[in-house]
Amino acid sequence: MAKQKLQSIRGIHDGLPAQVSKWRYIEEVARDIFSSYAFAEVRLPILEPTALFVRSVGEKTDIVSKEMYAFTDQGGDNICLRPEGTAGAVRAYLQAGLTRAGAQRWFYMGPMFRRERPQKGRLRQFQQIGAEFFGASAAVEDAEVLAMAQRFLDTLGIEQTRLEINSLGCTTCRPSYREALLTFLQRKKDALCETCHERMDSNPLRVLDCKVKTCQAALTDAPEMVNHLCEVCETHFSGLQSGLKALNVKYTINPRIVRGLDYYNRTAFEFITDQLGAQGTVLAGGRYDGLVESLGGPATPAIGFAAGMERLEMLLPDREANQPDVAVVALGDAVSGYALQQATKLREAGLSVVHCGGGSAKRQFKMADREGAKFVVTIGEDEMKAGKLMLKNLSTGEQQQLTFDAIIQEIS
Ligand code: ATP
Ligand code: MG
Repeated sequence: MAKQKLQSIRGIHDGLPAQVSKWRYIEEVARDIFSSYAFAEVRLPILEPTALFVRSVGEKTDIVSKEMYAFTDQGGDNICLRPEGTAGAVRAYLQAGLTRAGAQRWFYMGPMFRRERPQKGRLRQFQQIGAEFFGASAAVEDAEVLAMAQRFLDTLGIEQTRLEINSLGCTTCRPSYREALLTFLQRKKDALCETCHERMDSNPLRVLDCKVKTCQAALTDAPEMVNHLCEVCETHFSGLQSGLKALNVKYTINPRIVRGLDYYNRTAFEFITDQLGAQGTVLAGGRYDGLVESLGGPATPAIGFAAGMERLEMLLPDREANQPDVAVVALGDAVSGYALQQATKLREAGLSVVHCGGGSAKRQFKMADREGAKFVVTIGEDEMKAGKLMLKNLSTGEQQQLTFDAIIQEIS
């Protein structure tokens, strides 16, 4: 019987060299930009207690109710693969006793797990780059966080996104808005999907977020949170907008943005593109002033966001592939050791170098070609005796015998 082929799990993909090179670039840009706003990197666990997400993300959300990879381990503990980063960040912040250490600005990158229906840009293991700012209460701090996200996308060269913002109000103004919305939804109930019927009981605001077209059509005249804000939320929302204008960050108000997680209040935002179909949200986040307290800490205002690495990658402009600078071709056994040493020296000088393995000249040149090297350094006995190397520029065909130092200059 033929052995069954082992495949990766559906919706869980390998990161192969071409892709990882893009991820690394995205990570580098994130580190640069976020550090310039004094955010520091944290590395948090991938396994967390399941209860953490039940208590923060919310029991009725899609994530917690049906998408978590949760299980009981050999010791009987209920643990899960983290579906998102904010809850774990808050847990770590509390566990480290940092609530009195002043504002904390953190960022992280790493895999998240959700058992969703896999599609383009929607995976079961995906990577997020996220930022969390604990102790941020002012509207201008929201504006700066959004500007930081915008700069991150700009620096990556991702231009096809637009920023949409909304205010979700607070515990003062949301209850009466919720009532107004529910009254409206009751009237439209027949036009709404099954899931929205459930949402009406659990979290009616999430109906606004439904991706079903007929639901969206039924919501045309739905009451909007932005028209029901209390004075404090109103001031905060206009402060955010003034900040964004001052920073020249373009935005539109989209009263339908509610976010899929329960813990958000006031500012909610998404950077959206039309180029990825239904998976159009590239980076999203908002303010979550109640979360730290609800996980057992002191009342601590906070704001954060997360971007999907795989979606960023799809929008990234084409970049030069990662090809070696130099291929080293060694002609004859007599130069074998010398050629190995020269390859090492070229690497020490900062170049990326492949050694073509010696042997037949024809095979080595073919290999240099296939590797896509920009230059070939050929070393024969003549070169070894003269203390020089033969350099060929593969794009111009130009060839010259040069000293090691001259070669480094020529290539850089
Ligand atoms: P969506 O509306 O696309 O389901 P979401 O509201 O669930 O997104 P968040 O939980 O806020 O998204 O996560 C932030 C970002 O992480 C998203 O904007 C997206 O770029 C990315 N993301 C979320 N879920 C996935 C997934 N299953 N596969 C790939 N990327 C994802
Ligand atoms: Mg989702």
